[in-house]
Order: sequence, then structure tokens, then C-alpha cells
Amino acid sequence: MDADEFRRSGGEMVDFIADYLQNIRQRRPLPAVSPGYLKKLISEEAPSDGESWESVKDDIEKVIMPGVSSAHTFREPLLASSPACTELEMIALDWLGKMLRLPQDFLFSGERQGGSIILGGASEAILISLISARKAAINKLRCLDPQLTNGQALDKLVAYTSDQTHCCMEKSCLIGLVSLTILPSDTTGALSWETLEAAICRDLARGLVPVFFCATIGTTSTCAFDNLAELGPVCNKYGVWMHVDAAYAGSACICPEFRYLLDGVEHCTSISVSPHKWLLVNYDCTALWTLSHPQHWQVNMGRRFRSLKLWFVLRMYGVKGLQERIRQDVHLAKQFAQMVKADSRFELIGDVTLGLVCFRLKHCNCVNEELHEKLKSDRRIHLIPSSFKGKFFLRFVICPASTQLQDVSFAWSVINEITDGITRHCAT
Ligand code: PLP
Repeated sequence: MDADEFRRSGGEMVDFIADYLQNIRQRRPLPAVSPGYLKKLISEEAPSDGESWESVKDDIEKVIMPGVSSAHTFREPLLASSPACTELEMIALDWLGKMLRLPQDFLFSGERQGGSIILGGASEAILISLISARKAAINKLRCLDPQLTNGQALDKLVAYTSDQTHCCMEKSCLIGLVSLTILPSDTTGALSWETLEAAICRDLARGLVPVFFCATIGTTSTCAFDNLAELGPVCNKYGVWMHVDAAYAGSACICPEFRYLLDGVEHCTSISVSPHKWLLVNYDCTALWTLSHPQHWQVNMGRRFRSLKLWFVLRMYGVKGLQERIRQDVHLAKQFAQMVKADSRFELIGDVTLGLVCFRLKHCNCVNEELHEKLKSDRRIHLIPSSFKGKFFLRFVICPASTQLQDVSFAWSVINEITDGITRHCAT
């Protein structure tokens, strides 16, 4: 949808909501549909080709409105008052789960107790998973020893993650009062199963109870990937809840050529992916799938109708359209990496698997920090730096849907221009 189409379609939606408000008395406060009504009206899988906005818009009145109690600014906790809100979320997340080829057990349509929810962010997904794992572990400990208080049981629990995991894991453990062991990653930024198993065994020997492990597919700093197929069996062996944080990189796994990154996901208890990061869905939209229904899926009682925008995007791009976008972004990232490689002043940090390119000048950290500072004050491009194993570097990432080669070339020309000034002054 280009800017003109968006202006026109947005205007139509404002008219739709205004008409709804004007004619509110002709509608019933409670929808007259039976549970499961939406499943009969929507296909079981996302369309492979994109559809027009007109056909999506037609379905809003035909398919969605019979199951809602207000216009499009929902805060509906109740299945009775807004079944469309709950049912569309279940359907859209099953679509996405199938696109990611998640095991059936994670889906509502699967035979086990799996399910999913849309949350506001990856941090919330980790927090909900951790709290669920904590609750199950405390119940189990108190079953074995009824004298144990909740607090005494809680004191025994330990969670694990790697030094490359997003800091929201640390925050979740602070909120959840579970102690966290941060383990060193290997030279690629991944956590080895041997390191995890050794830490678990050490804690078991001290009488502690390993409860939760957060793996990452696409770390924030360098887009490294934990090996789920190796880490998963360790967690299963010791009864540890394994959560996979695939906030950014998970979206790429809708392409068959990147799906290998999720190999081993069948060993995990929960996984989250943020379509707002790389699947063209507006902020906020993080999908959390879990094998074991949490007692509480979210902190708030009310909820927004976030599945609408996910459903719109999946229908309007289709699976093929979204795969195409991911592939174009990865291709652009690889083109940028080629530019970096072709300039002997620079080096790449790590592999370029998806849309992130990490690079630095072949100089000390302070020269790279100077490059970053100068780019920041120049203000034409914005690069967020990071460091890995003591090396400071810059991160170039392709994200907005409209990015083209000319934008990448422009960014590279700015980096070159600023670098010329720095290296000249370094040489003198
Ligand atoms: N996990 C990863 C891998 C991330 O890259 C980020 C944010 O950049 C987060 C978690 C936190 O995401 P949110 O802001 O949606 O909570």
C-alpha cells in the first residue's frame, strides 16, 4: 500500500468508525454469535498470495463486526462481549505458528494444550513465561514438602541465560524474584549446551532448583543464534522450562531457507516472536506460544484488539509477500556487508545471516567510538553501537519496509565520508 492508498483507506476506516458511532443504537451490546463462530468463516491457513484491502475491509463488517461489542478501540477481556477479539487472535496466531512451522503442540488447532497470545513486547513474553515456570516449580516443591513456605521454595529457584540475552531477562528475574545465573557465550555469541549443563549440575549439587532457561534466536548485539536442538535436551533432562526469545529473527523463519534457525524448538516450552520488529506489523505485537497454559496470560485484564492488524498484514501481503520482504532485506544487508568487506579499513564482526551487519574500523575501540560519535553528531544516519568480547563496533540494520539499495549506498557514503576525516587525523 503506497502513501496515497493508505491515505484513502485510512479515511475509509475513519468513516466506518464514525458511522458505527452514529448508528450505535441499531447494534446490540452483546453479539449474537456462538463460541467458535469465527473458525467457520476464516480459512485455517494464511493466504499464500496477498489480497486487496477491499476484500479485507469487506470482511470487517461480514466476519468481525458480528462478534464485537464496540468499534475498533477494544479493551475487551470477555469472550462473551467480544468473541471476535479472542477468536481472531487464536486464528491469526495459529496462521503465524503454521508459517513458522512450529510443532502442532504449540497451536490451538493441535491436539495438546498449546496456545498463544499477543503481548506488548518480548519482555512481557519472557516475564509471563518465567512467572508460569516459577508457579509450577513452587507448586511441585510444596507438594513434595508441605512444610515449605512459598518464600522458602522461591529462594531455591534459579534461572539461566547467556551474556548475550537481552537485558529484559534480567528485569523479568528481578520482578519475578528468581535468581539468575548469566553464563558466558562462546566466540560466536551462542551458549553451549555444556556450559548450561555444568551450571545446572553445580546448582543441583548446592540444593538449588533449576527452573527456567531463556535461549535467544537472533541476539540483540550481533544476531547470534543459540542451538535449540542441543540446549533443549539439557533442559528436558533437568525439568527446566526453556523459553526461546526470537523477537527479531523469528520473523525470518517464515522463509524455508531460514527455518533451520528454529530447529529443536520442539524441545522448548515457550517461544516468542515480535512481528512488530520485522513482519511489517505496527508496534506493538509480540506473539507468545506455549505448550503449557499459564494461569495468567497477561498482567492487565482488558486487552487491545491487536490481532486485527496482524490479520490485515498477513492477508494483504500473503505468506509469499512477507517472505519476499524478508529476503529483500537480507539481500540488502548482504550488499552492505560486501561494501564493508571491499574497504580494507573495515572488518565485519560475526556472520551476516539476516538483516544486521556488525562492522568496525580495524583500529582500537577509541577510534571506533570516535566514528560513532561523529556519525551521531552528523545526524544523517543512525547506527546503534554495541560491543562483543571487548570489541566496540557499529550495527547497521535493514528494517523499514521501504528501504532500497539507494538508501544503503547513501548510508555507506556517509560512513565513508566521516571515516575519511577520522583516518586522516589518525595518520597525522
Ligand atoms: N529480545 C530481543 C532479542 C531484542 O532484540 C529485544 C529488543 O530489542 C527485546 C527482547 C526486548 O523487546 P521489547 O522491547 O519488545 O520488550
